[in-house]
Amino acid sequence: MSRITENITLLKSQLPPEVKLIAVSKTKTVKDILEIYDTGQRRFGENRVPELLSKKDLLPADIEWHLIGHLQTNKVKFVVPFISMIQSVDSLKLLSAINSEAIKVGRIIDCLLEIHIASEETKYGFSMNELNENLIQKNLSYPGNVRICGVMGMATFTSDKEKVLKEFLYLKECFNLLKKSCFSSNSYFREISMGMSGDYELAVEAGSTMVRVGSLIFGSR
Ligand SMILES: *Cc1c(COP(=O)(O)O)cnc(C)c1O
Repeated sequence: MSRITENITLLKSQLPPEVKLIAVSKTKTVKDILEIYDTGQRRFGENRVPELLSKKDLLPADIEWHLIGHLQTNKVKFVVPFISMIQSVDSLKLLSAINSEAIKVGRIIDCLLEIHIASEETKYGFSMNELNENLIQKNLSYPGNVRICGVMGMATFTSDKEKVLKEFLYLKECFNLLKKSCFSSNSYFREISMGMSGDYELAVEAGSTMVRVGSLIFGSR
């Protein structure tokens, strides 16, 4: 067994069966991705559109691609025809751009609302205040060709486990609030995407339904 096959086998044995694994393959080669594919893994995550586009045509068509990085509205049209989920929806403008392109190609696009939970300024995402003002208070109806399936967040990059756990628990709280206020009748609003190589165990403890793990599987970038 190769190193990366060993890594994913070990990781999968440690994840509760109901937690979905997104293998984050950014910067990794088609060959490495195929090796993980051959273990049965089908969900892969990429954060940059050009890189995703250049790799996906060289890989099996049954891969479910998740976009996990900031998406510019002018690039929406390139991913909407094939993407399995856009996890990084960080503005209403983006949501409506996704909807327009989805209508053009006749698809329904699964999306997650990215919520800013870290203390770093640089990370993208809605604040809960913004979501409260724009979604909850206005009781906004969602564009028909996007399906909001839950939330996504990234914790602060720190070794302070208590802080990271708190941030994950906060994301879970945001999920609960949105579920109760806007999505109570939507059975597909059920995903909490949180946890990466360094903190997936804490994320699972806090209620993650989807972890996005790269370097722990493929090696450091
Ligand atoms: C790169 C990336 C990951 C995976 O990071 P690792 O630390 O390599 O597991 C997860 N989520 C997002 C949004 C990323 O950009």
